[in-house]
Amino acid sequence: MKKFKIIAGPCSVESRTQMEQILAMKYSPSFIRGGTYKMRTQKTSFQGLGSEAIEIIKELKKEKDFTFVSEITDPRQIEIFHGVVDVFQVGARNMYNYELLKELAQLGNPVILKRAFSATISEWLGSADYLHPLGTERVILCERGVRSFDTKLRNMLDLGSVIWLKEETKFPVIVDPSHAMGDSKYVTQAALASMAAGADGILVEVHPDPTVALSDKDQALSVVKYSEMIEQLTVLGGALGLKVEL
Ligand code: PEP
Ligand code: MN
Repeated sequence: MKKFKIIAGPCSVESRTQMEQILAMKYSPSFIRGGTYKMRTQKTSFQGLGSEAIEIIKELKKEKDFTFVSEITDPRQIEIFHGVVDVFQVGARNMYNYELLKELAQLGNPVILKRAFSATISEWLGSADYLHPLGTERVILCERGVRSFDTKLRNMLDLGSVIWLKEETKFPVIVDPSHAMGDSKYVTQAALASMAAGADGILVEVHPDPTVALSDKDQALSVVKYSEMIEQLTVLGGALGLKVEL
């Protein structure tokens, strides 16, 4: 049965307790996301715990087996991430950072390549090409919404790109419904639509208490809302012949 992969966790790793709560969730997935070095639009915004976050994850990995996904913003972090970050996320702001992509292409870890704010599909695939040494299976394209003329939503979720990429390329394609919608109220529907569009999974933000999240609090699902989303995806997956893989 075809799988629909769940990657979930907070926007940023904030504390050991916060990550313990994520790992203890009813539907805690084996792939956990968490920002360590954050790319914030405003310099005054929380920049991530950096190496302290890596230490937290290193300690937690001694107690529980999970695959850790985190955004890499600079090649100098490769050494710090070694042995702790299993999957590198390249953020929307770095999709065009070809030197970073060339470095990651040499490592062998899977890379989640997010679409830049205004990147055409061709530009996105151009960036994916820099990761070519990894092979198509280890380059995961992540649609996270693009800029549009609209101002109601954080971004415009381009599910057309998902349909096209699944038809025309061999890359795994996932969707980030959190950054696409920008509001937790709409994340579940966007996740369901992504499944229906043929995505291979989702990368979604969940926080033990979104009201106090240090970054992206508006779009973070609560643990209860996250559970409800997983249950709805399981039902839709049943109809589509897909197994939700935690
Ligand atoms: C993130 O995943 O927290 C993030 C910053 O995403 P993006 O690069 O898509 O803005
Ligand atoms: Mn975020």
